[in-house]
Amino acid sequence: MGMQDLTNIIYLIAAILFILDLKMLSHPRTAVRGNQLGALGMLLAIVATLMSGTWDWTYIILGIGIGSLIGAVAALRVKMTSMPELVGLFNGFGGAASVLVAGSALVATFNAVNAGATDGSMQMKVATVLSGIIGSVTFFGSYVAFGKLSEFLCVKWKLHTWQKIVKYGFSLAVAGGGIWYGLTMGINPLSITFMVSAVLIGGLLLPKKDRFPGMDLLKGLSAIASVAIGVMLVLDPSNTPLFWVLVAVAGVLGVILTLSIGGADMPVVIALLNSYSGLAAAATGFVIDNTVLIIAGSLVGASGLILTKIMCKAMNRSLANVLFGTMGPTADTPDADEVYKTVKATSADEVAMTLEVAQRVAIVPGYGMAVSQAQHAVRDVANFLEDKGIEVEYAIHPVAGRMPGHMNVLLAEADVPYDKLKEMDEVNPTMEQVDVAIVLGANDVVNPVARTDPSSPIAGMPIIDVDKARTVVVIKRSLSPGFAGIPNPLFAADNTLMFFSDAKKAMLDLLTALKET
Ligand code: NAP
Repeated sequence: MGMQDLTNIIYLIAAILFILDLKMLSHPRTAVRGNQLGALGMLLAIVATLMSGTWDWTYIILGIGIGSLIGAVAALRVKMTSMPELVGLFNGFGGAASVLVAGSALVATFNAVNAGATDGSMQMKVATVLSGIIGSVTFFGSYVAFGKLSEFLCVKWKLHTWQKIVKYGFSLAVAGGGIWYGLTMGINPLSITFMVSAVLIGGLLLPKKDRFPGMDLLKGLSAIASVAIGVMLVLDPSNTPLFWVLVAVAGVLGVILTLSIGGADMPVVIALLNSYSGLAAAATGFVIDNTVLIIAGSLVGASGLILTKIMCKAMNRSLANVLFGTMGPTADTPDADEVYKTVKATSADEVAMTLEVAQRVAIVPGYGMAVSQAQHAVRDVANFLEDKGIEVEYAIHPVAGRMPGHMNVLLAEADVPYDKLKEMDEVNPTMEQVDVAIVLGANDVVNPVARTDPSSPIAGMPIIDVDKARTVVVIKRSLSPGFAGIPNPLFAADNTLMFFSDAKKAMLDLLTALKET
């Protein structure tokens, strides 16, 4: 068996491990093992790749060192609640890596052509262009997503020092580096396009708002220019500086595509960018003829798309609406004062007395639980009730909070046993047997108008049917709307009591009241 056969067999094993990993990641009980299998697959793929060529080991070891350091620091220091930002950033690294590998493969091929070798194949040329466009859109789009979620891009308030360093440092590096590299190309239409694009990218990231006039025109122009430059590059791949012009123009597209999307929709965009990073990697796999990169990239691309689709479906919105539309009240949305005429307020003591006589309690967490970090306090209340023989379960809506699995992650952090978390489809059919449903900082995901009012912006969005429980206790600070910006008639229903408080404080007060009753 030759070296190539051995490499291919190892790649096959790695690919099988990746597929098992994805399968096992779909359940929390098998997720950790799945992750380990995926990491093992990646290790095998790297070893096989390194065995199959001759390399300058200094760069390989330097790369592994820097990458491991960033990975280790991120894993140890980043909080669970900051996961979307981190995932966003890592997608960006994936996109950038694909661009750099494809670009250097292009340069290497055409240096060889100049030295008398044959021209690159059509597959290589088209894949290089695709990798340049998708990788650059992913990198710059992910940076915007990271910046918006970390609240240093497009915000009106004062920034911390580290936020200023990242924001202004990145803009300056892109614009300044772009001008410097452009000048080395000499003054011609190509270098001017490159420099203008770099300055645009740096400049677009500075304003405190995310929408401005002419944005759609710029989006259209950068998309058309990316395709046009891509075609030029396929026709004349020996003009390698064109590749970097392509990357810069696609970068403008990446920034604009992500800039105008609202912070709350960012998780959907991050799932989409994740998919793009996979597609860029797969395209790069075609550039350098590496089977395992094609397989791994396609798996990431497909799974990112599936996740995007699941999230859109759970919000009953199309991807186009998330990317280009807005979510909010319409002319048909009823007036909040009308809806809230019969609201009844309650207190910790009254809720404690209601819970005392309950047999079955369902807790429905939402974004407010995440904001106030109430997961530990809610677990203490649930433990207290269970010690009294009351059955407690958590009803989890797939898009409660602001990222997929947001509630699961927070409750897992508070050591809530996984079998206590019930998915919406499991809990809804039994909602009529729930004595008390506690809605903790959730709003849209329990709004019955999704079922009853076809003209509502959330019409058709699957919800947790807490309104069917015997008593509903809603814990939030005011009657202000949730993400969708519409009133919620649940708050004024006959069987609902409103406990106006910060979620964490409410849970701590409730625990005290329960201990006293
Ligand atoms: P929501 O509809 O945004 O409502 C959250 C509620 O939490 C608000 O009404 C707010 O009311 C309350 N709140 C905020 N801070 C609080 C605190 N400290 N203590 C107590 N309450 C607090 O949230 P949701 O019900 O979880 O629904 C999620 C929404 O986000 C859905 O519309 C979904 O489509 C959207 N979304 C989700 C994802 C995802 O991946 N999960 C992605 C994009 C969009 P007060 O201000 O009165 O306290």
